[in-house]
Amino acid sequence: MIDLRSDTVTRPTAAMRQAMAEAEVGDDVYGEDPTVARLEELSAERMGMEAGLLLPSGTMANQVAIYTHTRRGDEVIVEAEAHCYYYEVGAMAALAGVQARTVAGDRGYVAPQQLAAAVRPDQLQFPRTRLLCIENTHNRAGGAVIGLERMQATIGAARRLGIRVHVDGARIFHAQVATGTPAAELVRGADSAMFCLSKGLCAPVGSVLVGSKEFIAEARKTRKLFGGGMRQAGILAAAGIVALTEMVDRLGEDHQRARRLAVALAEMGFAVDPRTCETNMVVMDTEPTGVDGATWVSRLAAAGVQVGATGPWRLRLVTHRDVSGPDIEETIRVFARFADRKSA
Ligand SMILES: *Cc1c(COP(=O)(O)O)cnc(C)c1O
Repeated sequence: MIDLRSDTVTRPTAAMRQAMAEAEVGDDVYGEDPTVARLEELSAERMGMEAGLLLPSGTMANQVAIYTHTRRGDEVIVEAEAHCYYYEVGAMAALAGVQARTVAGDRGYVAPQQLAAAVRPDQLQFPRTRLLCIENTHNRAGGAVIGLERMQATIGAARRLGIRVHVDGARIFHAQVATGTPAAELVRGADSAMFCLSKGLCAPVGSVLVGSKEFIAEARKTRKLFGGGMRQAGILAAAGIVALTEMVDRLGEDHQRARRLAVALAEMGFAVDPRTCETNMVVMDTEPTGVDGATWVSRLAAAGVQVGATGPWRLRLVTHRDVSGPDIEETIRVFARFADRKSA
């Protein structure tokens, strides 16, 4: 099977397995795991922040950040299809006790004027607007990149408006590779950011939250509160170090393969816009084919290609290290078999 459902399906590399086997470890809840400490320092450095915190998942990283930045009843501004709002089981309400104020963005981008309009004035009846979450790259917008100028415009506006900024950078290194702008520059001025080691970077488990020393000290307590304190986590961190040091630059290959796929599908007449394929995701609208997303998923699976349906009429194909160039060519051939059925 060619698995294009998500980049989370990537398996650890041989170098990761070796590093895991040889990792020096200690009890990280006691602060004694040298490998975790090394990953956290390296992560902070790569992101231009003071300190880092290893967490078991991206969801926990986002929710620990939201919980740590806010108090109950606060309002958090998010793009209308942001992962931390759309795909995290209502955690910001359930755990932090905050409410989301959603703003429909331009492929994930919330502009300064939209932000200013969403921030609540200081008035007795209103909740306190405390935090803005920015997602880059934006998952539901098809891996859309928010470039340096836009990132800095919105972060700057948030600062002037007196609200904090958390960047959900689950795939921030895809944005780095796509733009050539270091992740640290993209998130400059934000109060916190997180990225996933377990997606395109191929580590088996883990996400890292970064921020100021003071913020990370608080977040460390929140992580314990959420049950995310881990013991000999250096086994996982060892793979994370390989992910950060060896797996970032190769993401460009995934972007090229996604683009090749997007262009080929568009040429066959499928409703794919290659201009929106900026990183490692291809989005296809199945409505013109008259066949819904779920039916496409089973029809492609029967032909050896696994894809995801991210809406009733929407397919998502994600490239990653475990999908080769020949796999992409095979995927294109499979779609070609259905191309005569591209309209109902
Ligand atoms: C995957 C993802 C997360 C959550 O990560 P998990 O490790 O799956 O919990 C958060 N934000 C974005 C944008 C993601 O794509």
